[in-house]
Amino acid sequence: MFGAMMNYPLTLVQILEHAHRIHGDKRVHTQLPNGKVHTYNYDTLYRRVKQLANAITTLGGRPGDSVATFASNRYQHLEICCAVPYAGAIIHPLNVRLAPTQLAKIVEEAEDKLIFVDGACAEQFSKLEEKIECEHVVLFNADTGQNENRTNPSIEYEQFISEADDDYISDIQDENWAMALCYTSGTGGEPKGVLYTHRSMYLHTLAANQADVFGLTESDVVMPLVPLFHAMGWGLPYASMFAGAEIVFADVKHERIVDLIVETGVTVAAGVPTVWARLLPELQKRKQEVSSLRRLIVGGEPMPPTLIEAYEKGLRVEVRHAWGMTEMSPTGTFCTLRKAHQNLSDTEKCKIKAMQGRPIPGVQMRLVSENETELPWDGKAIGEVQVRSPWTASGYYKNDSTPGHFTEDGWLRTGDLATINAEGYMQIVDRAKAIIRSGGESISTVALETVLLKYPSIKDAAVIGIPDEKWGERPLAVVVLSLQTDCDISETLRQHLATEFPKFWIPDKFVVVDEIPKTGVGKTDKHAILQMLLPNHKRKPHYVKHR
Ligand code: AMP
Repeated sequence: MFGAMMNYPLTLVQILEHAHRIHGDKRVHTQLPNGKVHTYNYDTLYRRVKQLANAITTLGGRPGDSVATFASNRYQHLEICCAVPYAGAIIHPLNVRLAPTQLAKIVEEAEDKLIFVDGACAEQFSKLEEKIECEHVVLFNADTGQNENRTNPSIEYEQFISEADDDYISDIQDENWAMALCYTSGTGGEPKGVLYTHRSMYLHTLAANQADVFGLTESDVVMPLVPLFHAMGWGLPYASMFAGAEIVFADVKHERIVDLIVETGVTVAAGVPTVWARLLPELQKRKQEVSSLRRLIVGGEPMPPTLIEAYEKGLRVEVRHAWGMTEMSPTGTFCTLRKAHQNLSDTEKCKIKAMQGRPIPGVQMRLVSENETELPWDGKAIGEVQVRSPWTASGYYKNDSTPGHFTEDGWLRTGDLATINAEGYMQIVDRAKAIIRSGGESISTVALETVLLKYPSIKDAAVIGIPDEKWGERPLAVVVLSLQTDCDISETLRQHLATEFPKFWIPDKFVVVDEIPKTGVGKTDKHAILQMLLPNHKRKPHYVKHR
């Protein structure tokens, strides 16, 4: 027998309406390309979103159409990420850091007919535009003259909006209607599309806003230093709007980023570990000024324990280490301490916080061996993490040949190898594709990197497997030093690692570089490192097993 409750569709419309009705005076701040800060409130955002939804419809946009963006994090980008799904179309933020040929394939697959372009990205966009057929380009934050120099003239964003009425009424009847399309970063193969629904995004937003997850409140000022194309900025903008928190958009590399934290009173900031490693020295110098900052949400890559300690002990900023994937909208686990950990030492607490955490409510997780048997949660058994949740993809966009990615009983194979302890804390050991198999034994690149980063003069480190005739594969470490030196540091690093690992784990070679290549979302790009060191190397077969 069915219950007798309202069948009220869970859609993004409710998030937007709530932000307007209940938190209309809350603000969105944006650092513009010219360095100035633009500020307005959710009321204005709401009105402009309605105008934009009208303008898109008038231009011919229909429900189910894919509408792309090629932009940095700005208030206009947020407006588009609200207006497109509000009008029943699919918002598709393009990863501006991908190569034009790769992007062209994505645009073709998504059938994007309308693209919103940020003036600051217009030059990169011109390289893509040559390769695609796009009916309409709408340009925002463009310099005077930028439009005139274009081969195909574009529509100016403010004019586009101002010509439309704000009387648009959204009419999305089915919560399972598609609302956003995000592509995986594709470091281990071609990027694949994940098509979120209104329902999945709504439920992800509710789950993310729980106290032990993002834990956002109406008093928060949130700075997502995560591009909107990376799983909709990890869902932070929608979560902030639902909670009534203020949002601060900034360019992660902007020299005035710490000023912006101070001026806007940021309380919660989110980004990959590289961002926090880069900002640490300035935050330490200006510790008193940045006292509003109370929490970091960190994920995408393992957060080194030394960096966690620097924030927690040195700056008194709580670090919440999270794990997830584009396929999971993206949140899967979050690391918060249990009551039982209250009396542990600070160092012991940081050790727990360096784990990726426990599944958030709504996410089911299991650990599976190579022969598909379920493994115990004992903190020792290493297996592939498989997940399911209302915000996990059930397949890839326009891609039927995905049995390698999903199990027959409907779980997502994440391709991540991990242990899970009896308390439910997961610790990533490696990507299945990155783990090194040497003489039949496994070597975790993550574990080696974590210990390398504990060495005082190492600023960044990555370990990759290189082919070896005798052992199959051997580890090679690439390091960035904080101080230049002519001395060979290899022996010192060998000894440093030997205190924690067996002899066969120690990399055969240590290569000092100025910078470690990063992917479009700021993660270590191991494929690029391999290409840099061994240009003729072909990907090993298990690189393509999952992603
Ligand atoms: P993406 O879809 O680009 O967000 O990439 C997802 C992948 O990033 C996961 O499958 C993991 O391999 C990796 N990842 C995400 N968060 C973490 C984390 N906290 N620690 C280690 N790896 C992570």
